[in-house]
Amino acid sequence: MTQRTALVTGGTGGIGTAIVRYLAKQGHRVATNYRDEAKAEAWRQKMAKDGIEVCMVPGDVADPTSCEDMINAVHHKCGPVDILVNNAGITRDTTFHKMTYQQWMDVVNTNLNACFNVTRPVIEDMRTRKWGRIVQISSINGQKGQYGQANYAAAKAGMHGFTISLAQENARFGITVNTVSPGYVATDMVMAVPEEVREKIVVQIPVGRLGKPEEIAHAVAFFTTDEASWITGANLAINGGHYMGW
Ligand code: NDP
Repeated sequence: MTQRTALVTGGTGGIGTAIVRYLAKQGHRVATNYRDEAKAEAWRQKMAKDGIEVCMVPGDVADPTSCEDMINAVHHKCGPVDILVNNAGITRDTTFHKMTYQQWMDVVNTNLNACFNVTRPVIEDMRTRKWGRIVQISSINGQKGQYGQANYAAAKAGMHGFTISLAQENARFGITVNTVSPGYVATDMVMAVPEEVREKIVVQIPVGRLGKPEEIAHAVAFFTTDEASWITGANLAINGGHYMGW
């Protein structure tokens, strides 16, 4: 397998960590961003103990200038980005009639505008080198909507539009662009939801449990392979059967 340089945004989080591990174990050079240096260093050391060296660069995905610096830093430390996983994300849940402009903007900036901020500085280089893999981590709630998540569902649905447009523009340049839409996965983001709400969610999942971060990482890694070169503009729902719509 060809060794590539992969950037996973939000690599220190629950799903991000699993993606970083998976790509690193496949032999890729893997980079991720951080905002809190001390927290990031503790995470890096934990990964190093497991034999996984991660290239750490500062970066706020909601800030375009910070993202340009982040991509330059990755390029400098481990070469041009071949594989980009737009994974960093946040929620700021509340019903829309109570939602503040800030809650709307924070979620749209971090989940959707980040796709512009991070992808724009890597795409021209990928086109020049005629190879690239871009994967967005969207959400089941971008497909079906969710009470209390008008901001998040709008941002996550927007990521699909981004994926299918970018896929069309770059297909002839050896670049595939796909989306993975996880259902509820047992990470801090979901464990922060009150237990009684989580129990109600699990009842709706035909497989009968929350997902594991590794199950998302496996699918992301598949999209990044050479063998997946004819899969572009796809959206893969991984949700234990929770939502089976098109
Ligand atoms: P976590 O909260 O565990 O991790 C989120 C990661 O994103 C952290 O590394 C965090 O870094 C980073 N991040 C957040 N905001 C920014 C920012 N402005 N700039 C840079 N990095 C940032 O979330 P999950 O692992 O659960 O989720 C990962 C992705 O999967 C998200 O996009 C989420 O929406 C999506 N998803 C998750 C589901 C789930 O059930 N968990 C279900 C469906 C989709 P920091 O430590 O600095 O905050």
